[in-house]
Amino acid sequence: MNSFAFHNPTKIIFGEGTVSRLGKEASAYGSKALLVYGGGSIKRTGLHDKVLAQLQEHGIEVFELPGIEPNPRLSTVRKGIDICRENDIPFVLAVGGGSVLDASKAIALGVPYEGSVWDFYEHKATAKAALPLGTVLTLSATGSEMNSASVITNWEERRKLGYLSPLAFPRFSILDPTLTYTVPRDQTAYGAVDMMTHVFEQYFNHTKDTPLQERLCESILKTIVENAPVAQENPNDYAARANLMLCGTYALNGGMISVGMDQDWASHDIEHELSAVYDIAHGAGLSIVYPNWMKYVYRERLDRFAQFAVRVWDIDPSGKTEEELALAGIQATRDFFRSLGAPSTLTEVGIGEDRIEEMAAKSVSFGPLGHFKKLGQEDVAAIYRLSL
Ligand code: NAP
Ligand code: FE
Repeated sequence: MNSFAFHNPTKIIFGEGTVSRLGKEASAYGSKALLVYGGGSIKRTGLHDKVLAQLQEHGIEVFELPGIEPNPRLSTVRKGIDICRENDIPFVLAVGGGSVLDASKAIALGVPYEGSVWDFYEHKATAKAALPLGTVLTLSATGSEMNSASVITNWEERRKLGYLSPLAFPRFSILDPTLTYTVPRDQTAYGAVDMMTHVFEQYFNHTKDTPLQERLCESILKTIVENAPVAQENPNDYAARANLMLCGTYALNGGMISVGMDQDWASHDIEHELSAVYDIAHGAGLSIVYPNWMKYVYRERLDRFAQFAVRVWDIDPSGKTEEELALAGIQATRDFFRSLGAPSTLTEVGIGEDRIEEMAAKSVSFGPLGHFKKLGQEDVAAIYRLSL
């Protein structure tokens, strides 16, 4: 096990009806708030009215930034930064899925920074200050509600880049599983895939002597596998939605499940190039890329892949080699994603080979990807081709 420091300052408020705590929590950060949300789901569900009522009840003046896109765009983040500066707004409130939360983090980081907020994402500058941020989560997937990451798309340059800053941890996140009842079947699938791959990025590593972390990872994976199909069949199943929500939050919250272990993240980078160019859902891209990354790298550590097959997918090890087990676990992963209705090939989502070399070149612009097996441009192109 590696040495580590772990600190996660986000306060989680979990359970049905917890939006009733929003006004009190938000009032700790001033008397004005920028309310950031997406394309309208929070208006259709009535959540927008509840949020406004909470803020008004606590004397908070509300400014609004609607229209955050899935794969949130830098141009929209800039609008939010301008509104905060023009109106001297001290607090950002994100109400929505990962895209809304990530855009809100970028706004919070961008307001006190004199240069372009994109500098952070291009590794040209480090954030020194940020507005405080609170969130109300409506989609279980990214873990953005309890982590320091945000991923922003510069659509003009077709680049999607992530940035981690300890200043971007939300001060509080309200997690009410009933707010996810209206998440459609496909987004429920993409969310499950995203959280499973967050665990994979931490679980497939070369670090030795980490049995607790491995079992934490495996138990989150099993819980997602049990609950995602239930939530798809019965969207209003509280237990299934609550379990998925907690899994999403634990899967990527600053590394609680993977303290002392190396992490990989190549597949996320490989996916970000796809959604930057083709604007596909992140979870859909991961559903295609991840099993192919696994096929490309599994020989690096047959024992871990065999353990994954036995412990997560309950594959009977008797009479099988480690390699046979590893391949069976990869196939089970692909089959599960497909059973949720998530895609397995680029062809299915209308992506051909024409821009593979360009995406592979851009993916390594900050250096080789990953740790489990370091991937150069040729490796990434090979994984895209395996995914066709
Ligand atoms: P999302 O892009 O936030 O939302 C996807 C769609 O779901 C939107 O059309 C949204 O509609 C809708 N939606 C959200 N909540 C809903 C609800 N309760 N009922 C009905 N529809 C609802 O999806 P996401 O998967 O959470 O976020 C994806 C983004 O996060 C990607 O850009 C990805 O790269 C990034 N990401 C970030 C992290 C991180 O650590 N920060 C990790 C992984 C991925 P509306 O717009 O109308 O609300
Ligand atoms: Fe992700």
